[in-house]
Amino acid sequence: MTLPQTQPAAHQIGAHWTHQDGEHATLTITLCHACSGRWFPPRDTCSTCASSDVENITSHTRGSVYASSVVRIAPRGFQAPYVLAYVDISGVRLLAHSPSSDRALAPGTPVELTVARIADTPEGAVTSYVVTALDDQHTTTGEQ
Ligand SMILES: [Zn+2]
Repeated sequence: MTLPQTQPAAHQIGAHWTHQDGEHATLTITLCHACSGRWFPPRDTCSTCASSDVENITSHTRGSVYASSVVRIAPRGFQAPYVLAYVDISGVRLLAHSPSSDRALAPGTPVELTVARIADTPEGAVTSYVVTALDDQHTTTGEQ
């Protein structure tokens, strides 16, 4: 019996929370109806008020940088240098790779969510939601 040959499966971090539409990506975030708290990754219970009256909503495709740093000594599988950025998007602040840059992103820099490769492992490529600085000076589209 011959086993079928398959390519190593790529692993996507946050695949359940990430939605791709062409070049754009959005994330699932949780909105609490009791206290208006917002959470990413999504959750069943609000971490502020413990209410389970929550709803999952879809983020915008764009946000802005809160802070960032260049990683010059990377964990195994990651190719330094790359940028890690805290990004404000649709009312949540999340940490994301910015693999297309080797320079820190200034606070307020508008960014767009996409999905890209962030690492390579013996099992295959690792992809994740990432942010890319927008070349133009568009401001963020505001919060949902
Ligand atoms: Zn709440």
